[in-house]
Amino acid sequence: MGLLFGSPPTRTIAAGPSIGIVGAGPAGLSLARILTDRGFRDVTVLERSERVGGKSLTIQHEGVGHEVGTCYFTEGYTQVRAWMRRYGMTSHRLRRHVIHRVDGTTTDFGHFVSGGSRARMCDELWRYGQHWLRFFTMQELGRDRATFDAEVSVPFGEWLRERNFPGIERFALRSMTAMGYGHLDQVPALYGLRWNTPSLLLSAAAMHIDEPVPGWSHLWQSMAATLDVRLGWDTAHVDRGPRGVEVIAKDGQRLRFDHLVVSTPPDECGAWLPLADDERAVFGRLRWDQFATTLVVADGWFRHEDTHSFEASLRGADGPLLGNILVARRTADKTPVAEARTDARKPVYVVYQYGNRQLSDTSLRERVTRDIARQGGKVAQVLGQFRWKHSPKLPREAIAAGAVWDMEALQGKRRTWYTGASLSHESVNNVVDYNVKLADRMEHALHGYAEQTLGKWWWQERKAAERLVTWHNK
Ligand SMILES: Cc1cc2nc3c(=O)[nH]c(=O)nc-3n(C[C@H](O)[C@H](O)[C@H](O)COP(=O)(O)OP(=O)(O)OC[C@H]3O[C@@H](n4cnc5c(N)ncnc54)[C@H](O)[C@@H]3O)c2cc1C
Repeated sequence: MGLLFGSPPTRTIAAGPSIGIVGAGPAGLSLARILTDRGFRDVTVLERSERVGGKSLTIQHEGVGHEVGTCYFTEGYTQVRAWMRRYGMTSHRLRRHVIHRVDGTTTDFGHFVSGGSRARMCDELWRYGQHWLRFFTMQELGRDRATFDAEVSVPFGEWLRERNFPGIERFALRSMTAMGYGHLDQVPALYGLRWNTPSLLLSAAAMHIDEPVPGWSHLWQSMAATLDVRLGWDTAHVDRGPRGVEVIAKDGQRLRFDHLVVSTPPDECGAWLPLADDERAVFGRLRWDQFATTLVVADGWFRHEDTHSFEASLRGADGPLLGNILVARRTADKTPVAEARTDARKPVYVVYQYGNRQLSDTSLRERVTRDIARQGGKVAQVLGQFRWKHSPKLPREAIAAGAVWDMEALQGKRRTWYTGASLSHESVNNVVDYNVKLADRMEHALHGYAEQTLGKWWWQERKAAERLVTWHNK
């Protein structure tokens, strides 16, 4: 019973080992927060850049914050919501979402997903909840690994079609492809299932999709303010020995820790951390996409909806890779200041595209201008353009050959732990949920406490699956 149904531990550790975490993005900071809240007293976060937050970045323009990196959060972000409350933050709900269909017509998101049949959609959600719980239980308990590997290594689109989920496939065009997580015929089902939880579907059905106010940067800055975070620490080399780990910065500074956590892309850390063969064998297989966001001021484009998505850019074998606009979000109304200006100022939009080496900054901007013009708008000013290393994935063959478990088996070996999107999936919620479980494993390994947090997630998603049924029966 203890493993499945225990509640998260709250206890004070008498004396703890020192932990050095490389990277102050959402993964590094949230793990530092969780460990510190659990009583680890000596946790230090080392960040290369001069700011915290990594791919969470709120850009201020005329007194209003615009999210050019992490944007949304939903019902399932329970830990993140608790932190937002702790730091006095509120939220802004995004309610109006328009889809431009391949045939040129427009529809609202709910109708696009359900195809007009609420009863069929409810049935899909209920069946999906059952499949998802099975997936989750297999993943968390690590049983029947060969079946798991075979089932989750197929493309997510194929996984959905085989089980007759046309509505959820349309939903995933928005939740996966449009969010930069890859094309449904390519991205392994592992990542589709990790992200499309029952609580995500429930949030979408209830239109509970929020942006934080005043912004994601505020969350991570508030968190960092009560942790030991060293900015401008560019890690040059790490020595791992039987008695500890020494981290050396490019400017020659040195710090010693009992344990190291790598929250930066693990395929890159070989540049400063001499990797063992088993580490290289797994991390060398990771592949990343590139996601691009452009912040523009535009005239004559949509003013009354929050987001517009473009189905034609999301379908087709390499549709997303052409750099066309996937989604645009009108980024206003969030605060009284923003709301008061909605009609008086030119609207600001964040535009999302996939990038790749063939697409220069200039060509991405040209496509933004062209696509907005096709919708009747005109770009008045480009406030900024950002290209992100995004959405790490193991290839399907690697998953089928057991690479998920090989990666997990590295945790704690050689006094080294790994976190971040490569270990879970590229959303803050995936990263934070993974960290709660990782903290359990670290407590277990370093202090001998029993691992028991799994129960919380199992119950949360089970409750969400049950609510899908209640919704179904209404
Ligand atoms: C455009 C975009 C939109 C997104 N939208 C959402 C969304 O709506 N909802 C959601 O939940 N998630 C969203 N995400 C994903 C979310 O931002 C990521 O899950 C999250 O940022 C991953 O956190 P991380 O800490 O693993 O990595 P990162 O954010 O990349 O942080 C890594 C940190 O490590 C630092 N670093 C790297 N190398 C070194 C080194 N050698 N030494 C020291 N420090 C180093 C980096 O500077 C960085 O600060 C979005 C991401 C992007 C790019």
